[in-house]
Amino acid sequence: MEQKISKIEKDYSEKIQKAQSLKELDGIFLALFGKNGELDLLPKEFSKLSPDERCRIGPLFNAVKQELEKTIEVRRNEIREQSYIKLVDEKLDLAETTQIKQRQGHLHLATQFKKEIIDLFENLGFYQFDAPHVEWDKYNFETLNIPKDHPSKDMWDTLYIDTSKLGVEPGQMLLRTHTSNFWSRLMEKGQTPIRAMSFDRCFRYEAVDARHSHTFNQFEIAVVGENITMANLKYLSDCLLKTILGEEAKSRFRPKYYPFVEPGVGIDSLCVFCHGKGCKICSGTGWFEIAGAGMIHPNVFKLTGQNPKKCTGLAWGFGPDRILMLKHGIEDIRYFLEGDLKFLQKY
Ligand SMILES: [Zn+2]
Repeated sequence: MEQKISKIEKDYSEKIQKAQSLKELDGIFLALFGKNGELDLLPKEFSKLSPDERCRIGPLFNAVKQELEKTIEVRRNEIREQSYIKLVDEKLDLAETTQIKQRQGHLHLATQFKKEIIDLFENLGFYQFDAPHVEWDKYNFETLNIPKDHPSKDMWDTLYIDTSKLGVEPGQMLLRTHTSNFWSRLMEKGQTPIRAMSFDRCFRYEAVDARHSHTFNQFEIAVVGENITMANLKYLSDCLLKTILGEEAKSRFRPKYYPFVEPGVGIDSLCVFCHGKGCKICSGTGWFEIAGAGMIHPNVFKLTGQNPKKCTGLAWGFGPDRILMLKHGIEDIRYFLEGDLKFLQKY
């Protein structure tokens, strides 16, 4: 037994000294102290020894065990120190990193589009007006001829703000569902004539998928003044469509209901992919809906303190994200909000 213990001590001391890595040392440690390791199995043989032998072997075994543990620890520290010295000596040549391809940043696709549209309408004499994202029901709905509890409110899936701690009645504060709050605010201010626009974010309580998002952009214009007619609406509509889709763009008006306009129109564009022949993108109809618009409802004039007999107005709005998807064949609206580099670099 004594010979066996001495042999283990000798063999393993040599192995520990020769070890060059922490991983190697871990292996040696397990071979000695792990389950079924040499020093784990050995005490099971002690029962065969006489009491005298046990008195001699016990302390020897313990001493060897402690010695080997200590040797492993010392060697572990030596190896750590050596790798640290290696690290300190290592040099990093920054010149080598110049091989990495340099990339130039650019504006987001939606921002480029926004700039293009804003430039066009600034040239037509429009100014930008930013309205709050967190809005009162009054400006998002009520003054736009959508009274409380009116069924037409169901046209918008609204995200309401929890106002329980603000001392505000529930349902009064919300995330605006459209950009139309900008012109209901302007009309209430009484700053007519109005020739304003807004390109900004809106929010709806939507289940997110490839075609729907809870956060999206809208572009809207509003004109209020004397003798504003459907002819102005048609002219501005064509101006915008030609800018977005090219000179050959054609539009048609269809009657459509929106509570804040009368008459209201849905604006279709001749499909730019099949030129009206019918394709997958326009679902075979030759047209696709691009915007909603109309003449501002007389009730909106009254609700904002204006006189509908003195002036008239028009409003025109569309979703730029959807148009960009059509134009560039982008299949998922979520790309607009995610910072996916592959998408950002492509456009
Ligand atoms: Zn088509």
